[in-house]
Amino acid sequence: MIIVGGGIGGLASALACGLVGARPHVLERAANFSEVGAGIQLSPNVTRTLHAWGLAEELKGIGFAPRTLEAKDAQTGQVIGSLPLGRRSQEVYGAPYFTVHRADLHRLLLQKINRSGLADLSLHCQIDEVNELDPIKVSGLQLETGLREVFETDAMVGADGLWSATRQMVVPSTAPRVTGLLAYRALVPMQSIPEKLRMKDVNVWLGPRLHAVLYPVQGGDFLNMVVVVQGPPPAVIEEWDHAANKQDLEAAMGPVHAHLKELVGTAPAWRLWPLCDHVPMKGPHEMAKGRIALLGDAAHPMRPFLAQGAGMAIEDAAELAKSWARTDMNVADRWQIYAHARWARNAQVQLRSIRNGQIFHLTGPLRWGRNLSMRLFGESLMDIPWLYAGP
Ligand SMILES: Cc1cc2nc3c(=O)[nH]c(=O)nc-3n(C[C@H](O)[C@H](O)[C@H](O)COP(=O)(O)OP(=O)(O)OC[C@H]3O[C@@H](n4cnc5c(N)ncnc54)[C@H](O)[C@@H]3O)c2cc1C
Repeated sequence: MIIVGGGIGGLASALACGLVGARPHVLERAANFSEVGAGIQLSPNVTRTLHAWGLAEELKGIGFAPRTLEAKDAQTGQVIGSLPLGRRSQEVYGAPYFTVHRADLHRLLLQKINRSGLADLSLHCQIDEVNELDPIKVSGLQLETGLREVFETDAMVGADGLWSATRQMVVPSTAPRVTGLLAYRALVPMQSIPEKLRMKDVNVWLGPRLHAVLYPVQGGDFLNMVVVVQGPPPAVIEEWDHAANKQDLEAAMGPVHAHLKELVGTAPAWRLWPLCDHVPMKGPHEMAKGRIALLGDAAHPMRPFLAQGAGMAIEDAAELAKSWARTDMNVADRWQIYAHARWARNAQVQLRSIRNGQIFHLTGPLRWGRNLSMRLFGESLMDIPWLYAGP
């Protein structure tokens, strides 16, 4: 089995499939296996899967367990709703809710693969052509030497992210959509945050045409901040990580509550991700065709407003391994089982993420209506049993 892409989705599938005896080979174009510095929330549907792969202790070591998810109005600063996470997540869903640094999660998966020797990993390998012959021929450039390499395999998984080159083998002619939303992000030592503003929770600030998500990572030593605003994308949209400046962010935010302004002001540097997605999936044909399956952002890139992109990639990986274990079937049939099991849940999460973004950014009377219903029904609106209970 060849897996193209060694992000969180690619490594999760290498581990999951390795555990059921697939002996995958991961081809990654980067020179190192690494992730950019930003936080990620892992809800119980995701931590449960990571636990099942024997990662409970390691995950606890890198995870921060926030006490609550607190929603605030970005202009008045008032708390408009909250959902207990810590003990409740364990009691209701049987698994913890963690915030982690993406690089730590990625490293954890990599270490598990390396220690167990369950998969082969190749770097500097940029795949640009796939021919579904018998066997499948996967070819690309060895970036270090400039030479072309061809790999042969009986099964392929495209886990090469938003701008996937392998996606065209399954869903031809579908480019990502530019959403017109920009995610500014920063990671700030908690020590440099004024004491009154330090936090142990996930804080979501909702304002007109903007929202901000802040939470501790790395044992609470750092505060992860993401502020999503509307704005024109950078010239090179395929690059997802751009340098950004605070003045542009502050101008795009407009007037916000003094605490949010102060928190934003603590970050010496900001990075910018232009947000893109795909139209929510319409059927299993968008996740697998023949002996080629897609996984994670390559299959269903989503807006980050439900904090589930990596989570769905990890759930995909677990299902992929379950299907691979059906050795009574040929590869194409196994991938069909995988696609049928996953597409509807992924589509539902894509749709809900779009809707959340619209609700987060409401203006005028609709904004007051949102705040009122969150005040009245906060916990039941913010809890998502169909998602957190798992597939
Ligand atoms: C602002 C923001 C906040 C987010 N917050 C959360 C959150 O709280 N919780 C959550 O679950 N998700 C979150 N996400 C989503 C999450 O980051 C992504 O969904 C997830 O990282 C996708 O993983 P992936 O492995 O599918 O793709 P990627 O991480 O994009 O990995 C793809 C890999 O493939 C490699 N590659 C690409 N092309 C080729 C090629 N041709 N040949 C070889 N290798 C190739 C790349 O180098 C890369 O390593 C957030 C996203 C954003 C933008």
